Amino acid sequence: MMLRIFLSDLHLDDPQSRIFNGFAACLRSESKQVDEIYILGDLVEMWIGDDDDSPIALALADLLQTISKRCAVFLMHGNRDFLFGSKFADRTGVTLIDDPSTLDDSIVLSHGDALCTDDSAYQELREILRGEVWQNETLSKSLAERQIFGKALRAESIANNANKSSAIMDVNADAVTDLIGANIKTFIHGHTHRPGIHQIAERKAERIVLGDWGDCGWLCRQVNDTFSLECFNLAHRYEI
Ligand code: MN
Repeated sequence: MMLRIFLSDLHLDDPQSRIFNGFAACLRSESKQVDEIYILGDLVEMWIGDDDDSPIALALADLLQTISKRCAVFLMHGNRDFLFGSKFADRTGVTLIDDPSTLDDSIVLSHGDALCTDDSAYQELREILRGEVWQNETLSKSLAERQIFGKALRAESIANNANKSSAIMDVNADAVTDLIGANIKTFIHGHTHRPGIHQIAERKAERIVLGDWGDCGWLCRQVNDTFSLECFNLAHRYEI
């Protein structure tokens, strides 16, 4: 019996928010029944380094520390939180996983932003931000400097995306096909905020897109070979 849940795109920024409380209640409940929890990126709105001492950073570390004692928790970088590092992993007991990652030779996991290849400006930026040079330089700055920089980056991203067509901001079909090997049956990703289940005809595989948390929470549930996409009321599904 293998029970897993997959979620992404919570964009947490406030420990007092409905989303954070709903997420905490979800993890507390699910960690009693599933074997593994996978968070596929953009868990937080912005991560500026493992020394972040903002209220959301501290609350999140506390929560994950509790949950990872009950159930294995895996964390993948998203485009907002790619600076999660080994210090955060050690402190919270979560395991950082690569993007993409493969499970059981049949499931591929990704955040999804690397597959939005039609957005060439974003891919150029991504290459810089994910590079060692930029990251070492950034992390050597003081926390206060990184806080200012994080806010600027966030504002710039909103301004840039406002002018892009929605097709450009979705995953590219060829990029998806290239990623999916012959034995893969299930591909799970987030990022695009377009939850749904699609067939990848060329690969006889299914692409499950997680939703962003807002009015409701989203997760993909695996029970052995069966995957389902669930959307639930944050206040009512789990007792808060
Ligand atoms: Mn994203």
